[in-house]
Amino acid sequence: MTKKIVVIGGSAAGAKAAAKARRLDEFADITIIQKAPDLSMASCGYPYYVGGVFNDRSQLLCTPAGVVRDPVFFQKAKKITALVETEVTSINRSEKQVCCRNLKTREERTVVYDKLIIATGARANMPPIPGIDLIGVTTLLSMADTDYLRSVRDAQQVKRAVVIGGGLIGVEACEALQESGIQVTVVEAVDQVLTFLDRELAQLVENHMRAKGARVLTGIGVKEFVGENGRLAGVKLADGTVLECGLAVMAIGVRPNSELAREARLTLGKFGGITVDTHMQTSDPDIYAAGDCVEIPSRITGEPVFAPMGDLANLEGRVAGENAICGNTVTFPGTVHTGICKVFDYAAGSTGLSEKAAERIGLAGYTTVVNASPDKPGFMGAKILISKMLVDREQRILGYQCVGLGDVSRQIATAAMAIQGQLKISDVVNADLPYAPPFSPAIDHFVTAAHIMQNKLKGRMTGIGVREVWEKIQAGEKPFFLDGRNPNEYEEMHLGIGEALIPLGALRSRLADLPADKNAEIVCFCKISLRGYEAECILRAHGYTNVKVMEGGIMAWPYPRKK
Ligand SMILES: Cc1cc2nc3c(=O)[nH]c(=O)nc-3n(C[C@H](O)[C@H](O)[C@H](O)COP(=O)(O)OP(=O)(O)OC[C@H]3O[C@@H](n4cnc5c(N)ncnc54)[C@H](O)[C@@H]3O)c2cc1C
Repeated sequence: MTKKIVVIGGSAAGAKAAAKARRLDEFADITIIQKAPDLSMASCGYPYYVGGVFNDRSQLLCTPAGVVRDPVFFQKAKKITALVETEVTSINRSEKQVCCRNLKTREERTVVYDKLIIATGARANMPPIPGIDLIGVTTLLSMADTDYLRSVRDAQQVKRAVVIGGGLIGVEACEALQESGIQVTVVEAVDQVLTFLDRELAQLVENHMRAKGARVLTGIGVKEFVGENGRLAGVKLADGTVLECGLAVMAIGVRPNSELAREARLTLGKFGGITVDTHMQTSDPDIYAAGDCVEIPSRITGEPVFAPMGDLANLEGRVAGENAICGNTVTFPGTVHTGICKVFDYAAGSTGLSEKAAERIGLAGYTTVVNASPDKPGFMGAKILISKMLVDREQRILGYQCVGLGDVSRQIATAAMAIQGQLKISDVVNADLPYAPPFSPAIDHFVTAAHIMQNKLKGRMTGIGVREVWEKIQAGEKPFFLDGRNPNEYEEMHLGIGEALIPLGALRSRLADLPADKNAEIVCFCKISLRGYEAECILRAHGYTNVKVMEGGIMAWPYPRKK
């Protein structure tokens, strides 16, 4: 008998589920019901269209072969009926049918299903801030938002914009608008942007954003949108400051769009997402769900999480589509919390647990290490990456973050696989990764991080984080700071925290310049702290007992420096 598959939502998860179902059953009757006018939108590409990285809007909707994925394409290429601008208004589980309404004609109809797949995505968080309905206040979530922002860019009338929220979408919106010649201020309520990073790495990102001309205000919220004649004129902050602007982008996160499921009495989780099992099956065996509307397990804690990411939406949709056709034959195991974001010339990525997240879940006995080192040999145009690795007490890699100008994506991808494979430091220190100078140094940055971690775990290196050093300075403590670089490097750039410049090559002959008390605290560093580590080795051998290496060196230092 012909199977009737109905999919609600026709973007990432929905379109993927429908396509997978078709590949597995040529004769199934498959219908996508999509509220938006478009299908299969590449929403992750919206900021790059807004920012003018490409100018052909249809590229957001095309197959790799350049065909727009519209209802005709779905019908011809996939034999899938796609009803666009059609909203599902209710699910009748006992009759196994959905009610929907054409948003143009207002015509209503019912569509019956054998298996239903819900892929309704997420909604933007829009708190009731006064003035939020003014013209000029928008989100960056839909194609309509994207068209609006692109029209603002093209009109070149707006000179200043405020982006509210320093998460992934906020940071990408900041770049897009700033690169369009608009002066952008990012306002973030918590004390850092990109909360998937630990604070000291996020501060490096903030510094980079500022270097590119954007303003970044953290630790302050928005009180009001101030209008003139119904149009946005400014954003009033909690301290009363008004930032004049003609555009504000609300990017303070999303929540699952699960109202239909709630009304149909499907089980929801604690984040309001639809509860699914590993088959992406909801509490009704005839209904699957996938994408931003669901909660999935964390592969690290086992707890359900809300992980609204495009890669996950596609993977989940694929599993839902297969199970809807074949019965529950495939599973989706959950997320290791992997994400990446471009920030002008920088990139920032993370997988697994940050230190902050480890603290939050009460993980005991973990160790972290920071590595600053190049992504390629110097002669191939090396760029410095700064990463932070976290292992549990069994030395299993549980977290990895990386920021910098170089190839962050490769690092995060390698780390994500290490975490999913539950690899330990001993597995990674001799990892055979692809090497040739155009792509990486002989020992890849990620493997170097594992080497530093191993040194630390074996007690060969005592690390201290830049944040701890900064806090010591703020508290008036005065460890002996040893900068092991050469005078010309020092002239170019230095911290100015009272450090003594003792080039590594001269250290053995200048021990008299160090504190007479061999138990005094000495903090060694250099540009990336490789020479800092070698200085530690020398000093230890000469009987100094309290020597530390400032992890990541000057490159990981996000605080003000003298030069
Ligand atoms: C600007 C931006 C940048 C992003 N960048 C990244 C990135 O770099 N990496 C990454 O991993 N993720 C990124 N994401 C997140 C990613 O786009 C989402 O996780 C993904 O699109 C979710 O897919 P989905 O199918 O679950 O939901 P959506 O893509 O939101 O699609 C849901 C669809 O359901 C339809 N719908 C809703 N309700 C109904 C209804 N009642 N009836 C019929 N149809 C309905 C909507 O019209 C919508 O098109 C980004 C998102 C945005 C907005």
